[in-house]
Amino acid sequence: MPVTIPEPAVPPRRVLMGPGPSDADPRVLRALAAPVVGHLDPWLLARMGEIRAMLRTLFGTENRATLAISGTGTSGMEACLANLIEPGDGVVVGIHGYFGERLAEIAARHGGEVTRVEAPWGERVPERAVAAAIDRVRPKVVALVHAETSTGVEQPVEEIARAARAAGAFTVLDCVTSLGGVPVEVDRWGIDAAYAGSQKCLGAPPGLAPVTFSERAIAAARDRRRPVAGFYVDIALLERYWDEPHAYHHTISSPLVAALHEALRIALEDGREARFARQRALHDELVRGLARLGLGLLGAEGTRLPMLHAVRVPAGVDEAAVRRELLETYGLEIGAGMGALKGRIWRIGLMGASCTPNHVALCLAALARALGKDG
Ligand code: PLP
Repeated sequence: MPVTIPEPAVPPRRVLMGPGPSDADPRVLRALAAPVVGHLDPWLLARMGEIRAMLRTLFGTENRATLAISGTGTSGMEACLANLIEPGDGVVVGIHGYFGERLAEIAARHGGEVTRVEAPWGERVPERAVAAAIDRVRPKVVALVHAETSTGVEQPVEEIARAARAAGAFTVLDCVTSLGGVPVEVDRWGIDAAYAGSQKCLGAPPGLAPVTFSERAIAAARDRRRPVAGFYVDIALLERYWDEPHAYHHTISSPLVAALHEALRIALEDGREARFARQRALHDELVRGLARLGLGLLGAEGTRLPMLHAVRVPAGVDEAAVRRELLETYGLEIGAGMGALKGRIWRIGLMGASCTPNHVALCLAALARALGKDG
């Protein structure tokens, strides 16, 4: 059989304003293009140590066990649940969208007896309802999504984490969309395990999942009755690689490490507070512009995320045709609705290097054209 060699894979130029990945800063792309080094190279191990320190600042934690898993956000989710859950353990999961469902599914796959506390998509899970479930079930783990990317709604977590601590349970928090865009305070809120993704508000390419585990969570993982089911996500083994004695566990991708390192440097150069303020200001600007186009948002005001906008599709508009036009005419990617919201919303992200006034202006102008409202 003659082999046909395809053309080189040169991606089209896109402006990424969906639910992630976001645009990467040119500094991050340059870091990504640096030479590959070995997974035990002293240079790489030193950069990994710096990543741990930078992630602690963003997570608001002193946790020693802070590192990045080789994988996307879902690998962070799997790591947090797999290390804390053993078959038969009670797990209370707050579900107000697609990613809460995923938490429940992964918890059940690790043998957790899942109690669901649900809210309609577009609302918050009532903190009191979760606290009541914790009282009733006395679970080992309570799991929540801080920023529900399928609905654009932010979940308050402090009261729930307090109730979990009081009941001796561990709180797991999904920060995939929130980390780097809104405050995350792992230590102050009493979170025991949290995870994120590199490709959203951190502005790096997908492929690394920051995680952090409290001392209590590490002790619980150490005292398990049986080993963690997933070798790849076993936090004790990962710690022995990221920390002393730097024992081989897997062959981490050095370009992804370099890219995340640069993205975190950019986030810290911005400063946490300045970054959150810019996020909020550009969110307000986008929302005002959408309102001028007659476009409203899912979720009550005051509950909405500043980095992910669930925009209601007006009656009679073909939402897929609008997304196609934006992509084909402007190279602009926005997201579709998921699950029950499929066809009913667009998801517009302002994350990472896509959180700029230029992105807001382009998105509003392109939507105005596509909706015939640019007159
Ligand atoms: N959790 C949330 C809130 C997410 O938004 C996502 C991805 O969009 C995930 C988990 C899963 O992350 P990934 O797609 O990187 O595996």
